[in-house]
Amino acid sequence: MKDQLDELKSRLAGIVDLRAASALMSWDQETYMPPGSIEARAAQLATVGRLAHELFTSDGIADLLAGLADEVTGLHYDSDDASLIRVTRREFDKATRIPTELVAAIARESALAQHAWQEARSRSEFKYFRPHLEKLVALNVEKAEALGYEDRLYDPLLDQYEPEMTAAEVERAFSGLEAELVPLVQAIAEAAAGSGQQEFPFLYADYGEQEQWDFGVEVMRDFGFDFERGRQDRSAHPFTTSFSINDVRLTTRIQRDFLPSALFGSLHECGHGLYEQGVAARLDRTPLAGGASLSVHESQSRLWENLVGRSRGFWSHYYPHLKARFPGQLGDVDEDCFYRAINQVRPSLIRVEADEVTYNLHIILRFELENALLEGALTVADLPEAWNAKIEHYLGLVPGNDAEGVLQDIHWSMGAFGYFPTYTLGNLISSQLFDRAQQELSGLDQQIASGHFRELLHWLREKVHQHGQKYAAAELLDRIVGQGLAADSWLRHIRRKYSELYACNL
Ligand code: ZN
Repeated sequence: MKDQLDELKSRLAGIVDLRAASALMSWDQETYMPPGSIEARAAQLATVGRLAHELFTSDGIADLLAGLADEVTGLHYDSDDASLIRVTRREFDKATRIPTELVAAIARESALAQHAWQEARSRSEFKYFRPHLEKLVALNVEKAEALGYEDRLYDPLLDQYEPEMTAAEVERAFSGLEAELVPLVQAIAEAAAGSGQQEFPFLYADYGEQEQWDFGVEVMRDFGFDFERGRQDRSAHPFTTSFSINDVRLTTRIQRDFLPSALFGSLHECGHGLYEQGVAARLDRTPLAGGASLSVHESQSRLWENLVGRSRGFWSHYYPHLKARFPGQLGDVDEDCFYRAINQVRPSLIRVEADEVTYNLHIILRFELENALLEGALTVADLPEAWNAKIEHYLGLVPGNDAEGVLQDIHWSMGAFGYFPTYTLGNLISSQLFDRAQQELSGLDQQIASGHFRELLHWLREKVHQHGQKYAAAELLDRIVGQGLAADSWLRHIRRKYSELYACNL
């Protein structure tokens, strides 16, 4: 067994290297690559991606996994070796079930669809995107059939981003959330209206780029991001990637005329980066390095961005620092006013601009619509109307055109169905974890209010980060908080926060 296991590890390490090379080229494409190189880079990425896929789905890996199948039962479930074999088996099965022609068809169609989506969005006319989306829905149904499922067609698609989670579990959590969230948004809006000031023009003043950058870096260092093992650069759309646990790349986008964009964007990406840096060193260069799933990853970014970064305590420490960097813009804005401004809840049409509370309604809507599309309950032709009806139902707004409605997100044009729910799952998980951290770490709120995050980071490393991909989200939650996915913790957090903010009882 030892020989086979060593052989498996050695082959997987080579595949991990190739994937890191792809990630590095993609990072470069978004940051420093000159635009003229786009075609060359696409070819390079395709070649390296194909090589990695061929090596991973090879007979050699199949034989090694088959040979190790019996022996693994003697290993402890939590051990690195058992986890490596278990996770590799799961990913191998997924990677080999989809026929190569289908993989190619999806890649080809999504390249065309993204182009059409851009065109449709800039003209704000769904009809240009419609035939492409019809093809992508059909191809995703085919993909789900190829991957196989017991209950719902949606399950294997969700599983690509969220291993072992099912549509039924998501529905359960979302229905608890939805029932309370719609009236809660209304109640918060009324409380805010009764509290006076609702416009905060100072957020849109002119803020120097270097000062914004420096403030973000100051907070990230305090959070515990290790700049010896990572760096931050600029990109059009902020993201985090890593090439090893010792090389984690964050990107940010700085807007001169809207302060919260870079501020919270940096804290968000830093949360992702802390996770990647916190995986146990012995798992590096194995498929277990990296986050457990997209929702667990998002739970880390949201925890630092929202539960820490938008808290009263955090700003009682950092507001004087921020104000010192921007005396002209924030000179006559007191801490209370600033805190209200960055926590304002206001229904809006665009998901990426949504606040902490209404954001989840944008996700629930997308989850319902993509389920209906895949299961045949809704046709692509009827999608724009269904979208508008839902956004009116959930947020009381009507999009003025398709660009503000059904065409706003890139995900479906990339063929990514089953991705959206992971954002809200991340919000729910972040609260479940933070609640537990507050119970286990005495004085956590005071630590945050003094700019001390060492204990919180240590707790997250211990409970979440070090394990890398060993456990699926529900498994990890069960180990840490003793329950599965649930919305109550997040709802409690929101009620408490806004009751305090507007001195009312929500
Ligand atoms: Zn994120």
